[in-house]
Amino acid sequence: MSLTVFNPATEQPIAELAQAGVEETDAAVARAKEAFKTWRHVAPADRARLLRRLATLVEEHQEELAQIESQNVGKPIAGARGEVGMVAQVFHFYAGAVDKFHGETIPVAGGVDFTFREPLGVVGLIVPWNFPLNIASWKLGPALACGNTVVLKPAELTPLSALRLGELALDAGIPEGVINIVVGPGSTVGNRLVEHPDVAKIGFTGSTEVGRRVMQGAAATIKRVTLELGGKSANVIFADADLEKAAAAAPYSVFDNAGQDCCARSRILVEASAYDRFLELLVEATRNVKVGDPRDERTEMGPLISAAHRETVASFVDSEPLFRGDVPDGPGYWYPCTLIEARSSDRIAQEEVFGPVAAVIPFTDEADAITIANDSPFGLSGSIWTRDGARAIRVARSIDTGVLSLNSNSSVRVSTPFGGFKQSGFGRELGMHALEGYSEIKNVYMSTEG
Ligand code: NAD
Repeated sequence: MSLTVFNPATEQPIAELAQAGVEETDAAVARAKEAFKTWRHVAPADRARLLRRLATLVEEHQEELAQIESQNVGKPIAGARGEVGMVAQVFHFYAGAVDKFHGETIPVAGGVDFTFREPLGVVGLIVPWNFPLNIASWKLGPALACGNTVVLKPAELTPLSALRLGELALDAGIPEGVINIVVGPGSTVGNRLVEHPDVAKIGFTGSTEVGRRVMQGAAATIKRVTLELGGKSANVIFADADLEKAAAAAPYSVFDNAGQDCCARSRILVEASAYDRFLELLVEATRNVKVGDPRDERTEMGPLISAAHRETVASFVDSEPLFRGDVPDGPGYWYPCTLIEARSSDRIAQEEVFGPVAAVIPFTDEADAITIANDSPFGLSGSIWTRDGARAIRVARSIDTGVLSLNSNSSVRVSTPFGGFKQSGFGRELGMHALEGYSEIKNVYMSTEG
């Protein structure tokens, strides 16, 4: 069965691929299992050198990869270049981490005790369509650095950049079988990886609903899982904040990637005493978001990924918005930037829309802000805007979320841990913490008694 891949900005097909099924998935796992026998013993300096070469090849092919990602996801080209730049940085970081992540010696009676960080074996990496190459690299980097071999399953809608990365990995000299890429449906390929007895771990990024299924499926073989799931993050604006700066930043934190961002601060919480002024600034800043052709260097927001997804996004907007932006005429799965006034209990404030729709919610004081921020099954990201440093820290400590930024809306950096609380998942990606999820601690005791 073949798979047609589309450009969401033109609605035109851009590639036709063969789809894998269970049999091809099993063959990929078998190749990865065979390659693990030698890859696990590759000297750390050599493994680092191969990852560094891959990073360099990604840099050299930045424009090509950015064009693929832009056409396949509908991402504005300038942002796509930045994402590919991060992919290269991720491989550089984990090349440098190979020989800096190690065991310890522990004082014990009668001998010595030491630990090793062992690779897990074959790991299955399942990724979504919103940041296909970035999220794949966040898993590939630490998995390979620790000495695992992988089977990577990209999302059906966006397999192209992963396939090109696989070719670059071979060009870099990473041996065949170390990285295996299987294109096919989640219900067959993804599910088979979850069930396969020779797969030691699943690194999953996607929806909370599928994440739940992955966790259930993994139970049968006690597979390790890292789950990076959905979000409904709060952007908390106190009245004493630099309102101009907060309002200028807010649209980017919801409408970037057309809102198809697990870190989207899609709940904008505003202190009542500053509500009217902030709203004025927010509407103005949202009006200025440049929506249009992803090939245009100035474009800030492209289309949604598919017609079906646009329908889902539209189903959330059932009241008159505070603001609705413009979209281009003609083909493309466009959806306008939309601001909706809401209460915390409303569906729009509780469920992940995964589109350019933000709920604006007033709050009365610090305690109310914390209550509303935590009134969510998710806990992935968020921002706090205030000029009071002590309050910023107090509120940051009180919000149940994995990643926060103060007076900023930045979410991910190569060297810092990223991941969720509550139903946003568990385990951490990026930074040195990600290596913990791709290795197993082995403890060895040796008697020194004569
Ligand atoms: P999805 O859950 O539908 O799919 C994710 C991946 O899982 C795809 O590759 C899909 O083919 C596969 N899959 C589907 N069914 C499967 C099954 N039964 N077994 C195994 N694999 C299966 O998610 P999506 O629509 O591609 O992506 C959007 C979601 O991803 C959003 O909820 C978003 O918040 C989340 N996301 C989270 C993060 C994070 O780091 N927390 C990052 C990006 C996206």
